[in-house]
Amino acid sequence: MTTETQPQIKEFQAETKQVLRLVIHSLYSHKEIFLRELISNASDACEKLRFEALANPGLLGTDELSVTLIPDAEAGTLTVKDNGIGMSREDVIDNLGTIARSGTKKFLEGLSGDSAKDAQLIGQFGVGFYSAFIVSDRVTVLTKRTDADAVRWDSDGEGSYEIQGADKSDRGTEVIMHLREEDKEFLEPSRLRQLVRKYSDHLSLPVVLKTGETEETVNQAKAFWTRPKSELTDADYQAFYKHLTHDSEDARAWAHNKVEGNIEYTSLLYLPKRAPFDLFERDPRGGVQLYVKRVFIMDKAAELLPPWLRFMRGLVDTADLPLNVSRELLQNNRTVEKIKSALVKRSLDLFEELERDKPEEYAEFWKTFGVVLKEGVIDDAGQKTRIAKLLRFQSTAATGDAAAVTLDAYVSRMKPDQKAIYYLTADSLAAARNSPHLEGFGASGFEVLLLTDRIDEWVTSHLHEFEGKTLTNVASAAADVASAIETPEKAAAESTYKDTVQRLAKTLLGKIASARVSGRLTDSPAVLVAGEFGVSLRMGRILKQAGQNNPFATLPILELNPKHPLVERLRETADDAAFSELAHVLYDQAMLAEGGELDDPAIFVRRVNKLIVDGLAAAPKIILS
Ligand code: ADP
Ligand code: MG
Repeated sequence: MTTETQPQIKEFQAETKQVLRLVIHSLYSHKEIFLRELISNASDACEKLRFEALANPGLLGTDELSVTLIPDAEAGTLTVKDNGIGMSREDVIDNLGTIARSGTKKFLEGLSGDSAKDAQLIGQFGVGFYSAFIVSDRVTVLTKRTDADAVRWDSDGEGSYEIQGADKSDRGTEVIMHLREEDKEFLEPSRLRQLVRKYSDHLSLPVVLKTGETEETVNQAKAFWTRPKSELTDADYQAFYKHLTHDSEDARAWAHNKVEGNIEYTSLLYLPKRAPFDLFERDPRGGVQLYVKRVFIMDKAAELLPPWLRFMRGLVDTADLPLNVSRELLQNNRTVEKIKSALVKRSLDLFEELERDKPEEYAEFWKTFGVVLKEGVIDDAGQKTRIAKLLRFQSTAATGDAAAVTLDAYVSRMKPDQKAIYYLTADSLAAARNSPHLEGFGASGFEVLLLTDRIDEWVTSHLHEFEGKTLTNVASAAADVASAIETPEKAAAESTYKDTVQRLAKTLLGKIASARVSGRLTDSPAVLVAGEFGVSLRMGRILKQAGQNNPFATLPILELNPKHPLVERLRETADDAAFSELAHVLYDQAMLAEGGELDDPAIFVRRVNKLIVDGLAAAPKIILS
């Protein structure tokens, strides 16, 4: 026997002890991850062998590279065995006795002693091999490289390990875990199968479960997304989509990309046909599956996609994140940020392609997810112009209920003297089409977009402009709206109504900022208009309903139709009390037409009824005959 084969007791490096203790304690509630870590190491060892065999083909031999799990109920051991590269004595000392990996020092410096915080920190570093001690009171490693003697390593994970020569002739590594009494569940074949399928289904090599003399491959042993696109048919993609999402319907479209360079990852994104049930829940959990080197890490990694793409499904597989990455770590991680912004671009590419090549499919997509996509205009300043081109609207130039007008189409139809992109927001399409704001505006011949989603209020204010044209609410006092509806009659009426508007402002003090003659009305007597720099009235209402205060609240302007009999009557009313009654009726009516609520509906009804009765009394024959 050479000295090297004599058992030798060695102390773990001080830091190693610390890490070991931490791993065991902080991961106590996630015990099962030890299997993921060990299978991943075995798989890495096989990959390393495959790589060395490129230069030295003799290395590979005839056996297929694989990982074998051997539960032994009698001995109380679980063995993870591979026929990969193996380790020499120096390798074992370096890899299993010290923590030589970069970053470890930083990790140790970051330790706070607060176990909750430390458990988060551990997510940034591979827990790796030491996780075997979460479930074992003793671990034995037998390993052999082709070009070195076999080695045996033993430890109870306390303070030291024993190393000596071993009797092993085949290449590779066996990690033999002497399971703790309370962790014997990991000897059960069904539990092992379940864990392999959960974490290692897509590893490219077979994971075999050996019970007695029977051997069964438990995982799929190939990752769908690692196969070249050219080999995959549409049917293949649809089948994988269903496997991934459990959706019984086909996906509408997908994008499969492999990226090499700064960051290495593969992404497979699917656009579903129908919305998930929780699309509009307060905290919907969107996101894609995350894999690290084919090992499943987590479902619905929301950090990889922004909330406005929460309907996308699929996965990302990267080599640039640690296996034990936690949700906490995904936040504010630069690699994650980069992948995320790439996925945003891929998704937009996908929508643009659909729009270009399959307009009917795009229309369906818009109907299902358009409202969510609109959030992107608000959330993602960098992409809002690109998203804007994908938006669809109803408009005065289009009939029917489908939102089909693009901003591009709108701009191409703009009149030579038209300054802005005009829109009107309302609670329903019918309310929008019948809005008093459109009466006079219609005469200008300018198209008006009709927006009925609540979110449109925010979309328009964030988008602000498109192709250099501002988006302007026709229900506002914006200067270009006023000029669009300027008429000679209006100018003439202004002097006639000079006194009336001043009286109105006083009478409705606290309700309106001012009153003025309108050019926008043909049928209605009055209308409320938002101040040029205030938020729209509807937006104010939405904020109020949501219990939020509105820092931009301004009083509206009451505009009068100078040709309407009620307004003429107002002008002629000298009596202050009668003037006030009529003024309030006009104001309340305008508020109702706006979709707003009255402060006191009962008083409004009483006032209107009085007007009607007065009218009946004044002209009984005409009305009753
Ligand atoms: P990591 O996998 O992140 O490097 P681990 O703690 O999981 O960290 O493993 C430490 C090192 O031990 C590995 O980098 C590898 O060199 C070695 N190792 C672990 N398991 C095996 C194995 N089954 N075959 C060969 N080498 C292994
Ligand atoms: Mg590892």
